[in-house]
Amino acid sequence: MTTDVINVKDFKNADPVFGQLSFDNHEQIVFCNDKDTGLKAIIGIHNTVLGPALGGTRMWQYKSEWHALNDVLRLSRGMTFKSAITGLNLGGGKAVIIGDSKTQKTPELMRRFGEFVHSLGGRYITAEDVGMATEDMDTVREVTPYVTGISESKGGAGNPSPITAYGVFMGMKAAAKYKYGSDILEDKVVYVQGIGNVGESLVEHLVNEGANVVISDISQERLEEVSSKYGVSIYNGNDIYSEQMHIYAPCALGATINDETINKLKTDIVAGAANNQLASELRHGKQLREKGIVYAPDFLINAGGIINVYAELENYDRAEIMRKTENIYNTTLEILENAELNNLTAHSAALNIAKSRIESRKAENSK
Ligand code: NAD
Repeated sequence: MTTDVINVKDFKNADPVFGQLSFDNHEQIVFCNDKDTGLKAIIGIHNTVLGPALGGTRMWQYKSEWHALNDVLRLSRGMTFKSAITGLNLGGGKAVIIGDSKTQKTPELMRRFGEFVHSLGGRYITAEDVGMATEDMDTVREVTPYVTGISESKGGAGNPSPITAYGVFMGMKAAAKYKYGSDILEDKVVYVQGIGNVGESLVEHLVNEGANVVISDISQERLEEVSSKYGVSIYNGNDIYSEQMHIYAPCALGATINDETINKLKTDIVAGAANNQLASELRHGKQLREKGIVYAPDFLINAGGIINVYAELENYDRAEIMRKTENIYNTTLEILENAELNNLTAHSAALNIAKSRIESRKAENSK
C-alpha cells in the first residue's frame, strides 16, 4: 500500500486510525496527553520484527490532529524501511509532539513525554527530529533509558545531523555517478531547500567539493547566516521547483514532490535529507523516472543519523559510524542499477530489499 499525502477531507471520510490511507499495518499507536505541561503527542510503532522501534520525535505546529496522525504514520513506516535497508537490527517508530517548539517546548513537557516513552518498556526508542535538539534528548534521558542522540558529554553519540548530511552527500554523489558517469559535484548547480541542522552541514560538503550551491529556507535569519558563512547564493524567487538545476536537495519537510511540483521540475537528480519526499510513493516515483530524473530514495540516503544513534545502543565507534555511512554510496549506486535492470523505480527497488530483509527475519523468528 502507498502512503499518499491526502487532504483533510479525505482524513475525515476515513475511519480515524486503522482506516487512514497512511496506516500500513502499524503495530501500535499511542496518544499521549498531559494537561499540566500541555503535552499532546502521538507515538507510532510501525514494525518491530528487526528490533525495537527507533525513530526521532518531531515537534511541529500541525494544521490539525489529522495532519499530526498522518505524519507519524508515514514517518514511523519510513523508519522501518530505513533501518531494514541499512542493515540495522531496529524496527520503525516515530513520535510527534503537537506544538510550536520555539514557544511551547519546556523541560517539564519533555520529561513528561519521556515518561510516556518509558511506559512502552523499550518497544519504542526516541531520538531528535525537527524541532528537537540534543539537549532535549538529555532531558528525556532523565526519566528513561529509551532515548538516543544524547550529548557526548553524557555518553551519547551527540548530534546526528552532520552524519545524516554526510550520508546524503554520499547518496548524492552516487546518484551523480549513475547519471553523469562521474561523482564529482564541482560546478554542479545544487539547490538545498531547508538549511537547518542537516541542510547546513550538507552545504558545507558541497562547497568543499566546489558545487554551485543555492539555498532556500523560510527563515531569513538562517539564510543570511549560512550564506555569509559559506559564500553561497540565496534563492530569492518564489518557485524553486521551476528553476533549472542539476540537483534538488529537499532538506526541510516531506512531500515536496507532489502533483503540483512534479511537472515543473527541471532537475537531473533529487537527493536530500527530508523524510517522505514523494507525496505518493508509487505515482510520483514513477513520474520522476518517466521524466528521466534520478531519485536517490530518501530513506536510504538519510540513514546516517540512525547509524549514529544506533552506535549508542551497540557501542560501536566513530570510525564504524563513518564506514557504515560512507557505504550509503555503494548501496545507492547498487539500487539505482538494480532498479534500471528490473524496470522499477528506485524507491520500489529499495523498498523491496528492505521488505525482503524483514520477511526473512520474520520467517527465522517463527522457526
Ligand atoms: P531542522 O529543523 O534543523 O531544519 C529544517 C529547516 O527547514 C529549518 O531551517 C526550517 O526553517 C526549514 N524549512 C521548513 N519549512 C521550509 C520550507 N517550506 N521551505 C524551506 N525551508 C523550510 O531539521 P533537520 O534536522 O535539518 O532535518 C531536515 C529534514 O531531514 C527533516 O525532514 C528531517 O526529518 C530529515 N532528517 C533529519 C535527520 C537528522 O539527523 N537530523 C535524519 C534523517 C532525516
